[in-house]
Amino acid sequence: MDVDVAGVEQAVSTGSLPGWDRVDQLVVAAYDRSAASEGGVVADYIPALSEVDPRLFAVCVAQTDGAVHSVGDADVEFSIQSISKAFVYALVCEALGHEAVRERVGVDNTGLAFDSVMAIELNGGHPRNPMVNAGAIATTAMLPGRTATERWERIRSGLSAFAGRDLEVDDEVYRSETRTNQRNRAIARLLESYGRVELDPLEVVDVYTRQCALRVSARDLAVMGATLADGGVNPVTGQRVVAEGVCRDTLAVMASAGMYERSGEWLFEIGMPAKSGVSGGIVAISPGKGGIGTFSPRLDDAGNSVRGQRAIAYLSRALGLNLFASVPHVSPIDLH
Ligand code: GLU
Repeated sequence: MDVDVAGVEQAVSTGSLPGWDRVDQLVVAAYDRSAASEGGVVADYIPALSEVDPRLFAVCVAQTDGAVHSVGDADVEFSIQSISKAFVYALVCEALGHEAVRERVGVDNTGLAFDSVMAIELNGGHPRNPMVNAGAIATTAMLPGRTATERWERIRSGLSAFAGRDLEVDDEVYRSETRTNQRNRAIARLLESYGRVELDPLEVVDVYTRQCALRVSARDLAVMGATLADGGVNPVTGQRVVAEGVCRDTLAVMASAGMYERSGEWLFEIGMPAKSGVSGGIVAISPGKGGIGTFSPRLDDAGNSVRGQRAIAYLSRALGLNLFASVPHVSPIDLH
């Protein structure tokens, strides 16, 4: 326990992971227990996403000490999609601070679909949180930069620093989504009409579409998650990417809104901040301990990867990652 300058006693609730061998064994067990799940369907509203092999599956854990455990198709790349929202949010918080982003984008769950126009209307043009498309587009629009190219480069290099390697755009996915993203363009126009986006809305959607098309692997997601778990320092490269307070803010919005309309249920059953994307990735974070990255393209009806959720549910319990659990427990997800 530390005492800060105001004389207030401070403490954190983080513990530690078991030894390397045990974590490795449990990552394999998480993969084996989830691999046979056949449920879910591959997203096809972005045409290029439907071409993925639905059998792909990877589970990775990156520890805050830099150790990385992986099983399955851990190096297969896919477009990051909505998971980018969490990391771009972190970059914007780093650049502009907690209050500015909180005021403009918000931190509360909408209870409605990620691409809901009704949610914007119901809230007088306020996007509510950065994990839905409206909030993510508003967040991307806040990123400092004189031109769209400068803002884009800031995102690409920022997310690359989280991953610890140079990330590149999947051109096919970018072009495919650009041809079919009328809804996101409409959302950006609506935000513009409410004064929530001041730049050219179509230019902002273009940057947003590119950020969603950045290629990552499950291993990258684990390392990106571990960077948030490690207070903003990438544990593999040692580079500080964002400040500690930014990680706290980012993890809080992931906890409230990272798993689409199932965010409450996820927190209730699994107890970890997480973000999923329509291409089948999930990143989940245990502050102080590490990040989990999974990839499996078949999604449930809320848009979350079926096998990814199962694997993380298992690891949350087996590694003691549930933020709300003070003693080991069995989650109902383990029972079916
Ligand atoms: N680029 C996708 C969209 O804006 C991301 C959706 C997602 O992964 O939830 O529709």
